[in-house]
Amino acid sequence: MKIAIVAAEISPWAKVGGLADVIGALPPAFRRAGAEPTVILPGYSSILTNLSAKQVGTLMTVQVGGDTHQFRVLQTRDAEGVPLYLIDHPGFFARDGVYGEHGTDYADNLRRFIFFGRAAAATIAELVRPDVVHAHDWHAAVAPIVLRADPYLYERTRGAVVAYTLHNLAFQGIYDVGDFPLLGIDWSYFTMEYLEFYGRMNLMKGAAMLADGVSTVSPTYAHEVASDPERGFGLEGVLRHKGDRFVGILNGADYREWDPQSDSLIAANYGPKHPSGKRLCNRDLRSSLRLAERACPLIGMITRMTVQKGCDLLRDALEGLMALDLQLVMLASGDPELEQFFRAAEKRFSENLRVLTRFDNAAAHRIQAGSDALLMPSRFEPCGLTQMYALRYGTTPIVRATGGLRDTVAEFERSSGSGNGFVFEDYTTHALIGAVQRMREAFADPRGWRRLMQNCFAADFSWDRAAREYLTWFERLEGQRTTQVA
Ligand code: ADP
Repeated sequence: MKIAIVAAEISPWAKVGGLADVIGALPPAFRRAGAEPTVILPGYSSILTNLSAKQVGTLMTVQVGGDTHQFRVLQTRDAEGVPLYLIDHPGFFARDGVYGEHGTDYADNLRRFIFFGRAAAATIAELVRPDVVHAHDWHAAVAPIVLRADPYLYERTRGAVVAYTLHNLAFQGIYDVGDFPLLGIDWSYFTMEYLEFYGRMNLMKGAAMLADGVSTVSPTYAHEVASDPERGFGLEGVLRHKGDRFVGILNGADYREWDPQSDSLIAANYGPKHPSGKRLCNRDLRSSLRLAERACPLIGMITRMTVQKGCDLLRDALEGLMALDLQLVMLASGDPELEQFFRAAEKRFSENLRVLTRFDNAAAHRIQAGSDALLMPSRFEPCGLTQMYALRYGTTPIVRATGGLRDTVAEFERSSGSGNGFVFEDYTTHALIGAVQRMREAFADPRGWRRLMQNCFAADFSWDRAAREYLTWFERLEGQRTTQVA
C-alpha cells in the first residue's frame, strides 16, 4: 500500500507540537508494517539546512488566486529511509518559524498553506501516485480538497482513498468568503455540504466533508468532538454525519526518542529493571534549576502556554498549590500574558517554583526524567503525548479526564496497587489541587510509590500498534469505496 502523507510539521526539524511527533514516527511505523509511505512537507529551511536533498521531477507551477507560483520538489530521507518530499518555495518557507514568530502568526498563512496544499496535490498526482492520501490538520486540508474538487486532479487520483486526520479542532483554518477564490475550485463547493461554515470558509470542514474517511487521535476525543459543541468547535454535526467513517485512533509514543534507557539528553539512563538512575536525574534537574534538595515531590509541566493546556486553571490554583509541600517546574511558552503571570509568580515562590518560558527539547527530556509527577490539567486534549512520555520515564501523570488523557491514564488505587496516575474530572482549582494532594499522599508511601512507578513503566503505547490500526482503517475505507462505486 503506497501512502502519501501530507502535513506541515515533522519532528525534529519543524516542530510546534504533537503533530510533529506523529509525522516523525507514524511513517516509519507504516514502513515497518510493510506499507510504502512518502511524506510531503513544506521545504522549510530548518529541514533543508539539516538534510541533503535532490530535485525530483521538473519545475512545477500552481495557481493561488491570480498568482502563479513555481516550485521544485526536493527529495530526502528520514533516518529510517522514509522518503520526504519537500515543496521548495523559499518565499513561503525560508523563515524562522513554522506558522509564525514571537507568538504572532504570519499574515500570509492562508496563501502559504493553500499553496502548500495545491503543490502537495500536484506532487501526488504527478509523482507519487499513491493508493492512500493521508492529510493532517488544517494546514494540509487543501490537498484533499483540491484532489476531490479540482476536476483535473480528481481524474488523475480518483483511485486513491483520501483519509484526513484531525489533531486539534481548535484550529480549523476559517477565513472570509472573499478568500474562497484563492483555492481555485468551483463556487459550488462554497455550500453547507462542503466548505461553507456560518458564512465563512472552513478548510478543515471542507477536507472532512470531501475525504473518504476522517479520524482523530484518541477514541475519547472522537466521542467528545462529535457530541459536545464546546469541544467540536462547530464541527460536531459534520463528524456525526460521517457516521462510521469517523474514527478515533490513539497516537503512539516515539520510544526511539523518548526512552530513559537510551536517552542521551538526561543525566543517567534508567528503566524498570534498574530505576535508580531516576534519582540522579532528579538531583541533576534540581541542581540545574537551583531548587533545594528536599523530600517533597517535584512536579514537571511541559506544554504550550495556552488555555487549552489548563494554564489558566493552574494560574488560579497556583496559590493553593504552592502552599503544599512540593516543587514545580514549568517549561511552557506561548501566550504572553500567561507567561508574564508565571514569571512574576516565580519571583514570589522563588524557593519552590521555576518557570522556563521557552521551547527547549533538551529541557523537556530532563524534566521528564527528573520529575516525580507530570501535570497536564488540560481543558481539552485530543491525545496528548507528553503524558505517554512521562509514563515511560516512570513519572506519574496528574491529568484532567479529557480526550486522550482519559484513554491513557487511570487513577492509582493504593489499596489494590492498580492505576498509573492521578485523574480529576472537573475543570476547577479544587479538583486539580485534590489530585495533586492524592499524588502527595502516594509519594509519602515509598512501597506504594515503587509500585506506581512500575505501573507507569509498564504502559506501552507503541506506534506499531497505531500504524496497524491506520492500515486496517485504510483497507476498510478502500472496501467502502468499492462498494459505493459498485
Ligand atoms: P500538543 O500537540 O497539543 O502541543 P502534545 O502533548 O501532544 O501536545 O505534544 C507536545 C509535544 O511538544 C511534546 O513532544 C512536548 O515535549 C513538546 N513541547 C511542548 N512544549 C514544549 C516546550 N516549551 N519546550 C520543549 N518541548 C515542548
